[in-house]
Order: sequence, then structure tokens, then C-alpha cells
Amino acid sequence: MLQLNFNNRFVSELPGDDSGIAKSRQTKGVCWSAVSPTRVARPALLAYSGEVLRILDLSDEDAQSASFLSAFSGNSLLPGMNSYAACYGGHQFGNWAGQLGDGRAIALGEVINRSGERWELQLKGAGITPYSRNADGRAVLRSSVREFLCSEAMHHLGIPTTRALSLITSGETVMRDMLYDGNPGLEPGAIVCRVAPSFIRFGNFEILASRSEHQLLQQLIEFTITRDFPEIDLKSNNYIESWFRLICERTARLVVEWLRVGFVHGVMNTDNMSIIGLTIDYGPYGWIDNFDPGWTPNTTDEDYRRYTLAQQPAVARWNLERLADALATVAPSRAVLDGGLAHFDSTFQTQLSTMLAAKFGLLKWTDEDADLVESVFDLMQRAEVDMTEFFRRLADIKQSAPDLNQLRNSFYREALYRNHSELFNTWLARYAVRLSAQQDTDEARKSRMNRVNPRFILRNYLAQQAIEAATAGDTSQINKLMAAARHPYDDNIPAELTAKRPDWAINKPGCSMLSCSS
Ligand code: AMP
Ligand code: MG
Repeated sequence: MLQLNFNNRFVSELPGDDSGIAKSRQTKGVCWSAVSPTRVARPALLAYSGEVLRILDLSDEDAQSASFLSAFSGNSLLPGMNSYAACYGGHQFGNWAGQLGDGRAIALGEVINRSGERWELQLKGAGITPYSRNADGRAVLRSSVREFLCSEAMHHLGIPTTRALSLITSGETVMRDMLYDGNPGLEPGAIVCRVAPSFIRFGNFEILASRSEHQLLQQLIEFTITRDFPEIDLKSNNYIESWFRLICERTARLVVEWLRVGFVHGVMNTDNMSIIGLTIDYGPYGWIDNFDPGWTPNTTDEDYRRYTLAQQPAVARWNLERLADALATVAPSRAVLDGGLAHFDSTFQTQLSTMLAAKFGLLKWTDEDADLVESVFDLMQRAEVDMTEFFRRLADIKQSAPDLNQLRNSFYREALYRNHSELFNTWLARYAVRLSAQQDTDEARKSRMNRVNPRFILRNYLAQQAIEAATAGDTSQINKLMAAARHPYDDNIPAELTAKRPDWAINKPGCSMLSCSS
């Protein structure tokens, strides 16, 4: 039997509905509902993350044990686990959606590891909860592979994220209308165990404010600060203000990191926003291939275009405003929270310029650099240049002899390369002048740039290939992607994992656009 040391503060310090009944309902006056995972027929371990295993002080042998498979498929609870689904609400696509809650996520408990860190374990796809509404509480293999791989890829890119311990197939099928076109079909089911210091979302606070449960909201705020924000002093008389400011800061930093690597979350609803600033709820996310600020991977967002690459900062701020509205119902005034929003704006601006300077190899950002950077982003968009490839190639440019040929492989279309080469040459000359204005060498610049511009990203088509292979029982592609994802800035990644999106992937479901069906 696996030995984990549980200390379940969320359920022991906050009120919950402990009836254990999974029937869909509104759960007023509580932060959680006790619920057990529903057993699955034939669980099989497809993959696990060695790093997350070690965070939990578990060994590879543990991961292969019957006890691991049983616990992380939801077939049994380990001693000390106290499973529950959290109650939260959210603004979806700009509208208040009322109670949402963990409809298919079931938290198992909070582990304290040997270093004294707290890590909560949560199964996604483990069966119905009081928040499942009419859905089945399950997850399909394709979305589980995507969540498993992307959580780990993001972590190794250095971006705050929930982690993934395990990917287990259930041996059962799940009915989904993948393309939302009226043709549902059976798909293999799977369960991911995700791991994070806290799974609390903006929506956990919003639901209580919307119900005027002010005392409980106050209690949840104090709980969250005590457990998840040791740097905030609850005894100071402006703690809500300082806490909200920190949330704003972390959210701003997170969004800048997404922009750095070309990650588009796809569903930035307030229920998918982590209070501690992690990337959370991997659904129809996507990675930028040809640079396009107006790209959204989410088919549901095709018309609104609310969650495109470039909209992410504005949406993050909008979401923080909704959180501020909720917190204002117990804060001394709404005005004390406005400082946090202003702090979001300034943090975003400074972090953005620091990030862009690093991406372009500039030692220091100056005001004129904005135009230099914007003009090449504009060119990249018009000429359909691959973002990841472009920045790795840009690191090779010699400041004394800039040569556009070195960037050639970042172009998808020969004709667009030819049509835009004059403009790119002009830009490169300007870039070279800018580089020579700083005390630097080509080698030093290249090594700095290659530490912020990844060689490997989890391109949409790569994840899709891994899904198709895994569906046919072959997990080798998942393992290859995991291996590359561990060293995303290294040069020696297998060429087939760094290749630009092939043409066949442009309109293939899963490779370009994704529905929320998961
Ligand atoms: P999402 O768009 O995945 O963030 O989900 C929005 C809400 O729908 C959350 O409350 C989810 O828990 C719930 N939900 C999504 N898929 C399912 C499902 N298959 N079964 C039950 N609830 C779900
Ligand atoms: Mg969600």
C-alpha cells in the first residue's frame, strides 16, 4: 500500500456538504461536497511523471504498484484521503454562469511531502459529483493525454502550472460529440491525477459573493491566505488589498509567460483562473505555429474571438475585475482593490518588455524597442512565420553580417518568403544596428536567447499524433514527447519533434482547432 501523509485542510477548515450524495444540485452555504470517485472497469497505467512522483516522495516501483493504479484510477481511496468536489461559479465567455463546481474533478486530499510542502491531489474524469449537471463526470483519452503532456511541458518551460502525476485509461468508453456536429461517438475514457499546491479558482470566491454568503466568503479568503499565501499577514488591516495585489501580479506574470512561448489557453473563464497564478484546466488550448495574435484554438470561440493569443492580457484583467467585484462585497471598499488592478497593468507592462528584450537578445529595453519588436511581429503575421522556429533562428544572426537566409526555415510558404524578403532584410539591418549598440557578443546573445526561446513546444499536431498512437495502444509517442518536454531549450531535440506544423495538420481536428468536448 502506498504511504502518503495527508493533511486535508480544505475539508477540515471549511464547511462542506458531507452527505456523500452525488446527485446534481445547488450546494448553498458550503465550499465543497463529499463525493467518492466512481470505480472503473479495467484501469491501465499509460504514463506517469517521474518528477511529480518524486515531489510526492514516491518511487518508480510505487508507480507500477497495484495500489497506485487503484488509487489514481479512482477505484479505491488510500488511508488519509478525504475525497470531495469543490463548489465554485464563474463567468463563461463574459457572462455570469452561476454555480459550476468540480463536475468531473474529485480532490483526494492534501499531501505533505518530506520537505514539508503541501500538494493537493485531484482526479479528473473520476465520475459524477453534485456539480456534474447533466454530464457524465468522465474525460476522454484525447483530452487526458493533452492535459498530462501539457502540464509537464509547461512546468519544464518554467511556467507556473498544475502538474500531472498519472495518466490512466479506464477500460470504459465515453460518448462524446467531438466536433459538436451532431455525430456523437464512443471514445476511450481516461483519468489524470493532477497535482498542485492549491486548486482554488477565482470562481470559488465569486459563487459565495453571488449568493451573498458574506461570512463564508470572508472565511474562504482567510483560509486561502493562511494556507496558500504565507507572505500575506492576516493581522495587517489592509490584508485583502495586499492579497489581491499579489493575485494581480501573479496573473500578469503568468500571461506574459504564455505570450513568451505562444501558448493560448483557449477558455479563460473565471472558473479556469487559479488564485495562486497557475495555468489550470487544460482544455482546447493550443500553441502558436505561424504567428497570429488573432488565433484561438477553441472552436466555441470562433465567433467571439475572446480568447485569442493577443486577448489574453485583457481577458486576465477582466477576470481580475470580476474577482474584485466579488471580494468588494467584504472588503472595506471596492476602491482598495483598484490599486491591485493598476498593479496588474504596470506589472504586465514591465514584465512584457523584460520578456521581449530577452526574446530578442536585448540587454536592456528602451522605448524605441517597442517599434522594432512590433514591426517584426507584424511582418511575421503577414508572412506566416513560425514563431518558435523564428526566435531560435534569430539567435544565430550575426550582428556584423545579418543574413535572412538563416531565418528561411521559419517560413511556411516559399512565396511569402520571397514577397516579404525585402521588408525582412530592412528589419534585420535595423535589428543588427540595435544589437551593435550594446556591449555584447553573438555567442553570449545566442546563449541568452536560447534560454527563453524554446526549441521544443508541444505543437498541436504532435499531441494529436501521440493521442492517435495511444488510442491504438502505443504510448511510445507520449514518452518521446515527455522526454523532449523535459529539456525544451536544448538544441538536441529529435528533428521530428521540432518540425513546423505539416500542411496535413492545418485543418485536421485536434491539430488546429479544438472543441470544448473532452
Ligand atoms: P470546463 O469548460 O472544462 O472548465 O468546464 C466547465 C464546467 O463544466 C465545470 O464545472 C466542469 O466541471 C463541468 N464539466 C465539464 N465536462 C464535464 C463532464 N464530462 N462531466 C461533468 N462535468 C463536466
Ligand atoms: Mg474548468
